[in-house]
Amino acid sequence: MITLKSYVCGRWVTGDQPGAALVDPSTEEALAEAPGGGVDFGAALAHARDVGGPALRAMTFAQRGELLKTLAKAIHARREELLDVAMQNGGNTRGDAKFDIDGASATLGAYAELGQSLGEGRFLVDGPPAVLGRSSRLAGQHVRVPRRGVAVHVNAFNFPAWGVAEKAAVALLAGMPVLTRPATATALLAFRMMECFVASGALPDGALSFLAGPSGDLLDRLGPQDVLAFTGSGATGALFRAKANVIARSVPVNVEADSLNAAVLGLDVEPGGDTWDLFVADVARDITQKTGQKCTAIRRVLVPSGRLEEARDALVDRLSQLRPGNTAQEGVTLGPVATASQLRDVRAGIERLLRDGARLAAGGSHPVEGLGAPAGKGYFVAPTLLVAPDAGAVPTVHEHEVFGPVATLIPYDTTEEAVGLVARAEGCLVSTVYTDDRAIALEAVLGLAAWHGRVCLGNAKVAGAWLGPGTVLPQLLHGGPGRAGGGAELGGLRGMELYLQRTALQGYGPLLEHLVQGGTRTG
Ligand code: NAP
Repeated sequence: MITLKSYVCGRWVTGDQPGAALVDPSTEEALAEAPGGGVDFGAALAHARDVGGPALRAMTFAQRGELLKTLAKAIHARREELLDVAMQNGGNTRGDAKFDIDGASATLGAYAELGQSLGEGRFLVDGPPAVLGRSSRLAGQHVRVPRRGVAVHVNAFNFPAWGVAEKAAVALLAGMPVLTRPATATALLAFRMMECFVASGALPDGALSFLAGPSGDLLDRLGPQDVLAFTGSGATGALFRAKANVIARSVPVNVEADSLNAAVLGLDVEPGGDTWDLFVADVARDITQKTGQKCTAIRRVLVPSGRLEEARDALVDRLSQLRPGNTAQEGVTLGPVATASQLRDVRAGIERLLRDGARLAAGGSHPVEGLGAPAGKGYFVAPTLLVAPDAGAVPTVHEHEVFGPVATLIPYDTTEEAVGLVARAEGCLVSTVYTDDRAIALEAVLGLAAWHGRVCLGNAKVAGAWLGPGTVLPQLLHGGPGRAGGGAELGGLRGMELYLQRTALQGYGPLLEHLVQGGTRTG
C-alpha cells in the first residue's frame, strides 16, 4: 500500500504521522494512505511566492501556454494508468474516469491555446486608453497584472483530476504559482497526476505545489496577494470565507459550491421528437454519470403537468437498464458513490425528500448489492427518481442537494411558474431549457439568467452537436450566484480575473503607451 506525498519547496515530502486511508469504494479495500502531516506550510507558501511567482511572471503568455501544453501531454502519456486509478479510488466507470481525466487534459490544452493567442505579453492591457483631459497628454489605462502571492486551490472529492487541472491551468496562465490540495478520499488520482507533472520536467521551481493530507493552518497564513479558490460544500466555503485573515486582509476567495440544477422541458415539446429525446438522454445521463456526483448534475426535472407520466416512464425505463456494481467488473454501468459518508448522506437525502412528500418512481435508499462486489461491501445506491406531487410541494427539493444518482420530477403549468420554481434554489451553476419555441426560450432565459452562471438551450437544431449541461467547458463560465457559491471559473480570459489585479494607470499618454508595450491588449 502506498503512502501519498506532498510536493512542496521543489521536492517530495513524506508525512510524519499516519493519515487517513484511501479505499476502493466498490470493495472497501484500502488502497493507499494519506500522510498525517509533515509539511511546513510557512516554507511551502514562501517558496511558491518567492521562487515560483517570479519564474512565472518572467514567462510570456505563450511560454506559460507551452508549459500547460506539456502538462496536458504528461497526463495523456499516462492516461491508461490514470484511468485505472480513477476506477479504483473514485469508483468511476471507465467512461466516468475518461470524463475526469480527459477533461483535465482538454482544459489544460484549451488554456495552452489561449496562452499562444495572448502571445509575448506578460500581463494584460485592459481595453483602450481613456482620454482624461481636453488633449491626449493626460491619459488613463487599465492593466491587469499577476498577483504576487500564491493561488491556493482546495478541491472536492468528485473530480480529482479535472478539479486540480482546471484551476491550475487558469492561475498558471495568469502568472500565479499554485498550491493545490485535493480532497483526501480520492486523492490518489491527483497524486499520480502530480507525479506526471513533476516528471515532465516542465514546471519552473515553485510554480506548482501539491498538498496531500491535512491543511492545518495553511489557510490562516494567506495574505493580501494570495488567492483562495475552493470547490466543495457551501458549509465549508462559508467557513473559509469567514476566516479572520481572509476578512482582515481581503484575500480574494472564489467558492464553487452546491447547486440544485434544473432541466426544464418546454411546454411545446412533444414526446418522440429530437428535443424530447435530448431531454431524456441528458436527465438519464446526469443521474448516472459519476454516479450523480457532479456539481452540474440535473437535480430538478421540471415538466409540463400533462407530460409528467410520459417523462417519468421514459426516465424509469432508462434507469432500469443500469447495472450498479464494482467498476472493475465487465458490464457495470453505475459505480458506487465515493465514500461511506457520501453513502450515508445520499440515503439520508432520499429519506428526507420522501418525508417531505416526494414519491418514489425508481430506486430508493435501500442497500444495494453491487455486481462483482464482495457481499455486503461497496457504497452502492440505486439510481433514484422521485416525483414531487405538485409544483409548490416538497420544499426540500429546492433546498437540499443530494449528491448522488438522484433527481426529482416536478410538474408545472406555465413558463413563468417554471422560472419561479427554478429560482427557489437561490442560485445554480447551470440549468437547461429544452424548447423549439423562441418565445418560450426568451421568457425562460430572461427569467433564469440572473440565477445562473450558465443557461443551456437544448433543441432539435443542436441535438447532433450537443455536449449537455454537465460538461464544463473551458470557453464558458463555470460558477453560479447564491447557493452555488458566487464563484466564476474558466470562461477563457474571464477566469484569469481572479488571479490578476486590475490597476488603473494615470499619466502622460505617450509614457503609458510605452509602459504597456510588455503587455497583451484585450477588449
Ligand atoms: P467538502 O466536504 O466541503 O470538502 C471540500 C474540500 O474542502 C476537501 O478538500 C476537504 O478536505 C476540504 N475541507 C473540508 N472541510 C475543511 C476544513 N474544515 N478545513 C480545511 N479543509 C476542509 O465537500 P466535498 O464533500 O468534498 O464535495 C462535495 C460538495 O462539493 C457537494 O456539495 C458539491 O455540490 C460540491 N461541488 C461543487 C462543485 C462546483 O464546481 N460548484 C464541484 C464539485 C463539487 P478533506 O477531503 O480532507 O475533508
